[in-house]
Amino acid sequence: MFRIFTDRHGKPVCDGLKKTVHIVEALVFPDMCLNCRALLPVSLGPGFSDQTFFCGACRARGLPTFDPPYCRMCGHLFDTGDTHVCETCLTDPPVVHRVRAALAYQGLVPEIVPLFKYHARLSLTRFFDSLMFNALDRHFRDTEIHWIVPVPLHPKKLRQRGFNQSFLLVRRLCDTYERHFGGRPGWQVDASVLKRVRYTHSQTGLDIASRKNNLKNAFQVPDPARVKDAGILLVDDVYTTGATCNEAARALLDAGAARVDVLVLARA
Ligand SMILES: [Zn+2]
Ligand SMILES: [Zn+2]
Repeated sequence: MFRIFTDRHGKPVCDGLKKTVHIVEALVFPDMCLNCRALLPVSLGPGFSDQTFFCGACRARGLPTFDPPYCRMCGHLFDTGDTHVCETCLTDPPVVHRVRAALAYQGLVPEIVPLFKYHARLSLTRFFDSLMFNALDRHFRDTEIHWIVPVPLHPKKLRQRGFNQSFLLVRRLCDTYERHFGGRPGWQVDASVLKRVRYTHSQTGLDIASRKNNLKNAFQVPDPARVKDAGILLVDDVYTTGATCNEAARALLDAGAARVDVLVLARA
């Protein structure tokens, strides 16, 4: 809605005018808290702070970013100490190379992620977009990535839900990158690299072994030549036991991918 105040190169035409119109627009169409829908006070300009998206009460519950200390491999968050490899990864290393996240699954996060995923509160993507871009830049800046691949849904699940939440998390990554760095990234977002060929029932309530079994041969790489020797970043909404991401990574590695890393919105 601010595009009309930028020239064709995206440069602001007039900041003062832009700000005035923003305030008028905000009075006519007031912003609501993306969680509880309370009206937000009129801000002086668009920004990307939590304040732009959530009311004071919701913000007070916490939107913790994914910060060290965590497991170097699976990204499991530790309460204290240094970043190291966790016990689980030492005994049973994950298929994926590294797991990193934008948020920790704590505070307000366990409420807004289901709102997004199961109740189609898609306005939350306005908040998630910048978080995902910052996490990508922070954790994978020096990683060679060829494809960014959202974890696919089975076509039947996609029809039921109407959208793939993982795809919505990466849909605007390339635009954000170009706006930020003024050039095209070395990677491409492509949802067709990986397909979900087996319909699986919800993982909720299953133990780790059952989750793994439930997902066996669920994924397929339609064109292995595209992933041969490629660095791949899988993107999903939440990483809990990692059964889904690791099964997806197995399919990609079997097809010849060099390495599979994972970026999720929230690490449980
Ligand atoms: Zn709120
Ligand atoms: Zn670990």
